[in-house]
Amino acid sequence: MTTLTELGLSKPTMSTFTEFGLSKHAMSALTDAGYTEPTEIQSGTIDIISSGKDLLASAQTGSGKTAAYALPIVSRLQRSASKPRALILVPTRELALQVLAQFKLFGKYTNLRAAAIYGGVGMGEQIRALRQSLDIVVGTPGRLIDCMTRNLIDLSNIEVLVLDEADRLLDLGFAPQLRRINKQVPKTRQTLMFSATIDSSVASMVNEFTRDAVVVKAASKNVEPTSIDQKFHHVNEYGKDELLLKVLKDIDSSSVLVFTMTKRKATWVKNRLRNANVMAEEIHGDISQNKRERTLKQYRNGEFAVLVATDVAARGLDIPSISHVINYDLPNTASDYVHRIGRTGRAGRTGTAVSFISQDQIHLVRDIEKVMGHSLDGSPLAVRKSTGGGVRRFRSRRYR
Ligand code: AMP
Repeated sequence: MTTLTELGLSKPTMSTFTEFGLSKHAMSALTDAGYTEPTEIQSGTIDIISSGKDLLASAQTGSGKTAAYALPIVSRLQRSASKPRALILVPTRELALQVLAQFKLFGKYTNLRAAAIYGGVGMGEQIRALRQSLDIVVGTPGRLIDCMTRNLIDLSNIEVLVLDEADRLLDLGFAPQLRRINKQVPKTRQTLMFSATIDSSVASMVNEFTRDAVVVKAASKNVEPTSIDQKFHHVNEYGKDELLLKVLKDIDSSSVLVFTMTKRKATWVKNRLRNANVMAEEIHGDISQNKRERTLKQYRNGEFAVLVATDVAARGLDIPSISHVINYDLPNTASDYVHRIGRTGRAGRTGTAVSFISQDQIHLVRDIEKVMGHSLDGSPLAVRKSTGGGVRRFRSRRYR
C-alpha cells in the first residue's frame, strides 16, 4: 500500500526558477520562453520531481503543470541516449502535441530527441521517429500499445513515467492499456501523476503506479492572474442559433470557441454561422487529424474567428488568444465544463465563458454548481427555474 505524504499548501514554496537547481540548458530555454516566475504547481512540485520521488499532483490544464514536469525531466536527462528514458502518457492527440511542444521548447539547448506517438494518423512518420532512438516519448496509450506490439519501442530504460490528466485517461477507458504499459517499464522508475480531479479510480491507480508518492494540491488553478467571467443564458433549444449570433455580435471577438454536444450539431452550427457571414470552422472526431491540426493552426493565426467544437477540444487546447468560450450545449459532466471554460483566460489573461441552458439540460446545472460550490449567480446552492431569456453572471473566483 502506498503511503501518501500530504504536502501542506502552507509550506514555503520556491518563488523563483533559479532556486530549483535546473540545468543551465533548461534555464536558458526558460529565459527565452519569457517565464519569469514559477506558477503555484511549479513551485510546489519541481523540487520534488528533481529529487526523484513519486508524485501525485492535483492540477488543471492552465496551471503550468506541463512545464512543472518537463523542466526537471529535461534537466535530468541532459544528453541523448540510445533508448527512451522518459514516457509521458496523455489522453488525447492534441495534448500529446502540446506536451511535445513544451519538451521541444525546454530541450532546445540539448540534443535530446522527443516525439509524439498518437492515433488517427498514419504510422510512417512516427515509426521513423522511433527508429531514431528517442529520449522522450509523449504518447496516447492506444497507439503506444500498437508500437509495443510491433516491437517498435523498447521501454526497458524508462526512468520517468508521467500520467498526465490521469482522470481523463481513466474516463476514456485507458486503464487496461495503462496496466499493460506499466508492466513494460522498469519497477524502479519514478512515476508522476497529474490529475484535475482525484477520485477513487485515480486513487487506485496511484497505488498501482507509484511508491510513497508525495501529494501536492494546487489551491489556485490558473497561471496568475487569470479570471474567467461566467455568464448563463436560459434559452429554448430552437432559440440557440439566434442567441449565438447575437452574443457573437455583442462580443465582437476575433477568437471564440463554441462547444456543441454532438459532431452533427457542430457542423450545423458552423454552417449556420457561415450563412450569417461569420467566419467559422469545425473540429471534432469525424474530422481527420491532419485537417484538425491545419484548422487549429489557422485558428491560432487568427485566420477565422469562431471555432465550433465538440469536447475533443475541451482539454489541453492552449491558445492564449481565445477570449470567449460559448457552451451552445452544456457538457454532460461538470468536469468537462471546467475543462471547456479553461480554454479561455489562459496564461494570465482574462476570459469569458457564456453558457446556453435549455430546459432539457437544466439537470446538468446542479452538477456544475456542485463543483463550483455555489449557484450560477453566486448565491448559496439552489437551482432556479428557467424564466427564459434571462442572463445571470458572476465573476469566478479564479475558477478552473
Ligand atoms: P499548462 O497547464 O501546462 O497547459 O500551461 C498553461 C499555459 O501556461 C501554457 O501556455 C504555458 O506556456 C504557460 N505557462 C506555464 N508556466 C508558466 C510560467 N511560469 N509563466 C508564464 N506562463 C507559463
